[in-house]
Amino acid sequence: MTVVLRRGREKSLARRHPWVFSGAVESAPANAAAGATVRIVSAGGEMLGYGAYSPASNIRVRMLKFGDGEAPDDSFAAGLVRRAIELRRALRPSVFEEPGAALRLVNAENDGLPGVIADFYSGWVVCQFTSALGEAWKATIAAALASAVPGCRGVAERADADARVREGLEKGGFAVLAGEEPPGLIEISEGGIRYLVDVRNGHKTGFYLDQRAARKRVRALASGRDVLNCFSYTGGFGLAAAAGGARSVVQVDVSADALALAGENAALNAGLRRDAIVCEEADVFKYLRQCRDAARTFDMIVLDPPKFAETRSQAERAARGYKDINLLAMKLLQPGGILATFSCSGAISSGFFDQILAGAAEDARRDFQIIARTGHDFDHPVALSFPEGAYLKGVFLRASDEAAKA
Ligand code: SAH
Repeated sequence: MTVVLRRGREKSLARRHPWVFSGAVESAPANAAAGATVRIVSAGGEMLGYGAYSPASNIRVRMLKFGDGEAPDDSFAAGLVRRAIELRRALRPSVFEEPGAALRLVNAENDGLPGVIADFYSGWVVCQFTSALGEAWKATIAAALASAVPGCRGVAERADADARVREGLEKGGFAVLAGEEPPGLIEISEGGIRYLVDVRNGHKTGFYLDQRAARKRVRALASGRDVLNCFSYTGGFGLAAAAGGARSVVQVDVSADALALAGENAALNAGLRRDAIVCEEADVFKYLRQCRDAARTFDMIVLDPPKFAETRSQAERAARGYKDINLLAMKLLQPGGILATFSCSGAISSGFFDQILAGAAEDARRDFQIIARTGHDFDHPVALSFPEGAYLKGVFLRASDEAAKA
């Protein structure tokens, strides 16, 4: 089956961008099923590669193989999985031997497997398939993971992501694809801090592995500080701050379940002063205002909200949300206080995020310096040909030594 592109629309594929939008398609086979392998041909008849057809999505084809060779088969797909695992090992040779190792094994488009995520938690692999491509190649990918991941005990799937609906796929629950059934909670270790991961009910595959570098930075800067960790989820940044010698930590989240696990995680780490860590179930937008009204201050604030913009059309509204919480947090900082602030919205560029922060600082009437930036760690590579892959932005701001103005 062949998809022919409109004139000029082969350019992005020449740059190895893996998406073919519906507007780029001149003709497609009427009977192609979701996930079917199609040949992609330019208007001039040049063979560009193979992808998986997705009739329900605006991203009509996701590329699996570029060039004019043979169609991709199971061994080709398994090879992509092995290559992704080898990359992690090349960058961090002992990674699978580390106790409680947790890392991303397959980072979707960036590892050549559009819509396929695989995360490793201490012997268990948890995947998400959010594209017709992933759904079609699921069994092959699961088998490849089971055989190629060192010490793999089982491979499971989370099929509850909303992205599946946008792709025309059915949502489902948790399912074991290969090997054994994982336990209810899996214990991992990051920088010697122990965390329990709920791979069945937690967000995404259970843990925000993408923020590892930022948690390390927070830990390094937290000593002696009163820390407010907003959007705490299961307590990642807060425990990192506590391990770094924070004087006190407040974890704020709307989710009672996330906070319950944050509490268990604090208890799991005998070296941390549990009495210095408190959890508050609250809406961060309201909580920051309450702190402002009560003239409560902190020496370090972490703002790691969920994605405010799903698409570019939501970027303006999202910008107002980011400005609101950053402005409030900036006002709550002690002189010399640190704001570690993040955006995981792909639709908000790094430059735009900086502008939002500068606007917030102006309205807060305080001066800040950028003291660090964080982003994707080694296990979340970003393909240079796929700028959409660079969604995570972290900016560490230090307030000047002048007190906040009322
Ligand atoms: N910082 C975390 C990940 C944060 S994910 C980590 O490193 O693990 C975003 C979190 O924000 C989720 O736990 C979600 O429950 C919470 N959340 C979403 N909207 C919120 C709101 N308005 N107020 C408080 N928490 C919110």
